[in-house]
Amino acid sequence: MREDHCTRCGACCAAFRVDFHCSELAGGNGALSGDGVPVALTYPVTGSLVRMRGTDEAPPRCIALAGEVGQSVRCTIYADRPSPCRDFAPYAALGIGEDACDRARARHGLPPLAAA
Ligand code: SF4
Ligand code: SF4
Repeated sequence: MREDHCTRCGACCAAFRVDFHCSELAGGNGALSGDGVPVALTYPVTGSLVRMRGTDEAPPRCIALAGEVGQSVRCTIYADRPSPCRDFAPYAALGIGEDACDRARARHGLPPLAAA
């Protein structure tokens, strides 16, 4: 999640599973910045994959998401968030969404970003 549009949204953090390689965990060697993702906020899926807690629940909501979707949100581990979060809809902060962003927003009754 990024600034601007995303801090008023957060739908993707409450729509999709967030899986990533265990090297991005805190203490691993694959953190893209910061200290890596806190281990306690994840659980193992396979020997090499971990998942953000809450993202495969029904309804999904990442354990690291604070605030109210569609109103005001923030990622409580923003500097340490995993690569899927960094790569998702890279132009959303500029108001340019994409299919997955639009689908996440639709799940929460929000219009496509371009129309927001
Ligand atoms: S669904 Fe799109 S606009 Fe909403 S937080 Fe995610 S990337 Fe940003
Ligand atoms: S780690 Fe942060 S950016 Fe990624 S899904 Fe969770 S709340 Fe969203």
